[in-house]
Amino acid sequence: MKKHNFSAGPCILPQEVFQEASKAILDFNNSGLSILEISHRSADFVSVMDEAQSLALELLGLKDKGYKALFLQGGASTQFLMVAYNLLEKKAAYLNTGTWSSKAIKEAKLFGEVEEVATSKDKNFNYIPKSYSIPEDIDYFHCTSNNTIFGTQMKEFPATSKPLVCDMSSDIFSREMDFSKFDLIYAGAQKNMGPAGTTLVIIKEDILGKVSREIPSMMSYSTHISKDSMFNTPAVYAVYVSLLTLRWIKAKGGIRAMEELNNKKADLLYSEIDRNPLFEGFAAKEDRSPMNATFNLVDDSYREKFDKLWKYAGVNGLNGHRSVGGYRASMYNALALESVQVVVDCMQKLEK
Ligand SMILES: *Cc1c(COP(=O)(O)O)cnc(C)c1O
Repeated sequence: MKKHNFSAGPCILPQEVFQEASKAILDFNNSGLSILEISHRSADFVSVMDEAQSLALELLGLKDKGYKALFLQGGASTQFLMVAYNLLEKKAAYLNTGTWSSKAIKEAKLFGEVEEVATSKDKNFNYIPKSYSIPEDIDYFHCTSNNTIFGTQMKEFPATSKPLVCDMSSDIFSREMDFSKFDLIYAGAQKNMGPAGTTLVIIKEDILGKVSREIPSMMSYSTHISKDSMFNTPAVYAVYVSLLTLRWIKAKGGIRAMEELNNKKADLLYSEIDRNPLFEGFAAKEDRSPMNATFNLVDDSYREKFDKLWKYAGVNGLNGHRSVGGYRASMYNALALESVQVVVDCMQKLEK
């Protein structure tokens, strides 16, 4: 039986995508070849890469606005250092909203001065700092739109005249926004877009070429732009499955439709967390993430009972991250509303 998968990442993808992706392993485009055995330079794969790049820009409303989309390797973690390598000449400002932001800061410090403009570390990152100012003497400002581990999400982004860089690994393609206010967006595919192995980088070309250091070819955005993400062998299969997911998003009505369903799922779960006296939410209400809901039992002695209930109901991946404890329900685009209802039913059964 197919499980209700609340895993944080790698995570659920649309069932249709799994089906089509599995066909391509045996015979890709009726070519008599598996997608796993064709050259990344073949016409069939070049068209996959082209469509994936252009569809990513189209869905974000960034076509013909000076942006390039790249599919790179090394995960979002490699972007922590590539961003600084390519953009940090003297000083950068970072907002620290969790584990991933902290890791991005650590890497950036290898390349220049980093000013942490605000942090929510004082409360184990259960909120998004709001009143801070961004200095003028910086090369860029970096933030994390959705904090996968702590279950918080930035609802507003600060205005700055400097390049705005954002790690959107866990909420890209999940909500409508004016994406043109960002100069660089990156996202590991495995949270809301595809399998592990590729990272989407959306970059406004005019922010490049401003640092004086020499950048190794593989670390340079300009290299990857000039070679259309094919400087070296790309993660062929991961890019293909990401393309299938992007096509699925478009066919379902684009980001707007994703957001509508994501809000329904989030409302359903958070209202139960707030209503049910056995549970309490972790993140500050106004900063709650529709993607990753973190919550806990008020009385931990019910843990064994609750765990039995949801596991028996076919739910997977509800355990919280070790740095928060409790539970985390990751409700990415492909998760159905019915799956959330199953968890809510378990919470109500426990109450009874
Ligand atoms: C998972 C995650 C990362 C790390 O991604 P990798 O691809 O494993 O390097 C970075 N940032 C955020 C917000 C994440 O959720």
